[in-house]
Amino acid sequence: DDKPLSGKVAVVTGASSGIGAAISRQLAAAGAKVAMAARRENLLKEIQDEISKEGGVALAVKCDVMNRAEVKELIQHTESTLGPVDILVNNAGIWVIRCMKNLHEEEWNQQVDVNIKGVLNCIGAVISGMCERKRGHIVNMSSQNGKTVIPLVGIAVYTGSKFFVEGMSRTLRQEVCKDGVRVTCIQPGEVETPGFARYLMTMEDEQCKQLYTYPRPYQILEPEVIAQAVLYAVTQPEHVAVNEILVQPREAP
Ligand code: NDP
Repeated sequence: DDKPLSGKVAVVTGASSGIGAAISRQLAAAGAKVAMAARRENLLKEIQDEISKEGGVALAVKCDVMNRAEVKELIQHTESTLGPVDILVNNAGIWVIRCMKNLHEEEWNQQVDVNIKGVLNCIGAVISGMCERKRGHIVNMSSQNGKTVIPLVGIAVYTGSKFFVEGMSRTLRQEVCKDGVRVTCIQPGEVETPGFARYLMTMEDEQCKQLYTYPRPYQILEPEVIAQAVLYAVTQPEHVAVNEILVQPREAP
């Protein structure tokens, strides 16, 4: 039929919540068959049901992006069920607002494992297939923190992980552009998601708390706004590369 993503297969990580759930719904509404990955399978199933009721096609796959074997299985299962992956949205990500001097080293590792290694695991599972097929689109959920250093204490490790995503994406783009593969970074400002609210509660430091209040003193973004940005990037003609999209609340500093 005539939907913009008809016939396309997409994988969305971190699809059980917030931005990833919104992306899954919008890609499915645009005609893509969507494999939704996250650890909380029950939440994925609920979103899968909603998408099916709207006439879309979605597949819920329990997968921890930190586990390379599970990621390979996710892609194999998707390809045998829905077809070769055209679009990978690396959205799964975590953040913690903690001052480095307080040495929450386990949380540093978790952010590196999900935000950096998780993204690499997923790219590693699809990139050679995309290059062979001469078509594919990798969309990485970066952040405004991947572009600039924001004067907010407590987000050094998170910022570093998103700078990695930016640098890797821009370099990968050069490598695969002649193979028909596109790489896009989406850079959201503050988005009202379960994760956003939860992670702000991790603030332990008075200095953090004074700088950062929740709810925010101005209207922040809805996850659907970010899903629209993803949809814009993946529905352009093949020769058009939307390399980055920065979307922030109007009143954000
Ligand atoms: P949420 O916490 O609401 O959702 C995060 C998603 O990531 C969940 O679906 C979670 O699923 C999944 N996830 C976490 N760890 C893993 C893992 N190991 N394996 C698989 N899935 C995992 O957060 P948001 O929707 O707010 O964030 C999504 C992305 O957007 C992140 O990359 C974040 O950095 C980025 N972002 C968010 C902003 C915001 O203000 N909200 C601003 C800028 C960027 P489950 O727990 O079921 O595994």
